[in-house]
Amino acid sequence: MINIVLFGKPGAGKGTQAEFLKEKYNLVHISTGDIFRYNLKNNTELGQQAKTYMDRGDLVPDELTVKMLQDEVEKKPQATGFLFDGFPRTIAQADALEAFLKTKGWSVTATIALEANDEVLIQRLLERGKTSGRTDDQDENKIRNRYEEYNEKTAPLIDYYTQKGLFYSVNGIGSIEEITRRISSVIDDFIDK
Ligand code: ADP
Repeated sequence: MINIVLFGKPGAGKGTQAEFLKEKYNLVHISTGDIFRYNLKNNTELGQQAKTYMDRGDLVPDELTVKMLQDEVEKKPQATGFLFDGFPRTIAQADALEAFLKTKGWSVTATIALEANDEVLIQRLLERGKTSGRTDDQDENKIRNRYEEYNEKTAPLIDYYTQKGLFYSVNGIGSIEEITRRISSVIDDFIDK
């Protein structure tokens, strides 16, 4: 069982890399952003609860997010590994993830961070916003707010996972294939161990 957390600021390329990594390592990809967007689009109860937060670029409250993540994991009893994308984003979510995995005899295998500077990332998001239809990518204020949320609530996870010896950092600037190779070499290293 391997459980990988893909970590990085908005626009760092987590979703793009996840598409390749899930095939290569046979992982179930869980993107909390994608699940929230799906629920929003289908106007589910969860979507309605998450909407105001997402519209502002705020994090959705931990309780809702953790519950949703656990439900997604439970839907995949055959999984031999998970790739968590966009989760955890707070210390409380990381604690909840650890406790939840523990009930199954699992743990986080590694957290892999995609690094890029803010200027590059904000440009990428604005580009993505032109075609993706994501309203949170079309408004610089919303993007800025997501970065504030990241700095305040998500960045502390770097220390959290570093202290556990689980934090790996990868240069997120380069071609998609190049970055996939960088992440793969980190994963291959701990698979071999
Ligand atoms: P980003 O491009 O900001 O990384 P995502 O697609 O991962 O975007 O997430 C979009 C939105 O969904 C976030 O701004 C937030 O409102 C909500 N969201 C996603 N994951 C989480 C999470 N783990 N905790 C709280 N809110 C989340």
